[in-house]
Amino acid sequence: MRYAILSDIHSNLEALQAVLEHLRAQGGADALWCLGDIVGYGPDPEECLRVLRELEALTIAGNHDWAATGDVDTSYFNPDAASAAHWTAAQLTAESLEYLKTLPLTLRQEPFTLVHGSPRDPIWEYVVSQSIAQANFPLFNTPYCLVGHSHVPLVFRLESASGRATLMELPQEAPLKMGAERLIINPGGVGQPRDGDPRASYAVYASKEMAIYHFRVPYDIATTQQKMRRLGLPPRLAQRLSYGR
Ligand code: ZN
Repeated sequence: MRYAILSDIHSNLEALQAVLEHLRAQGGADALWCLGDIVGYGPDPEECLRVLRELEALTIAGNHDWAATGDVDTSYFNPDAASAAHWTAAQLTAESLEYLKTLPLTLRQEPFTLVHGSPRDPIWEYVVSQSIAQANFPLFNTPYCLVGHSHVPLVFRLESASGRATLMELPQEAPLKMGAERLIINPGGVGQPRDGDPRASYAVYASKEMAIYHFRVPYDIATTQQKMRRLGLPPRLAQRLSYGR
């Protein structure tokens, strides 16, 4: 079986469509997993939700999904993110808001636990350092964990010899082979990459090979930016898409 792993789509329809086209060209997937933050920042929240629901994606909640439903207070957000969150909430239909409210915080899909932030704090914590990963390994009981939230494609490995967590970029040149050592994997962000590469980032888990394939997909950034400017979304949110920061 092949599972597509998408995270942090952030209402970016051009990025989502480019990823889905790329996925189809690779032979598609048997299932689609989404690690949260479907909405927030970008110009097409309703459309992105429609596409994911049509594809019956298995989805968990992210902090921006909860901001749209009012389940988290946007005073925790920076001013641009808060302003985009209020705009997003006003665009969504009652049905979409209801759908976002039903999303679970964590899901177990063997051999993975799926969370947006971290097992310790599924909504807010960024797993971006070895020490944070180290603290989270005891907090899930599947061999591996998939996280999003930071929009940076990373792998943390719990070395069995030392018991320490190590950190590396999620490789693109060759698949990541999953073995006996536990892993926390971030597939990067579809709709707002933040590792300096503006291309959409996603991954495919191939269960037969026990491997994770990581892909970067170019998309029409200018169209997304034009929509954001036209809709009056904060200019900085549109600009950052050019740099992947
Ligand atoms: Zn996000």
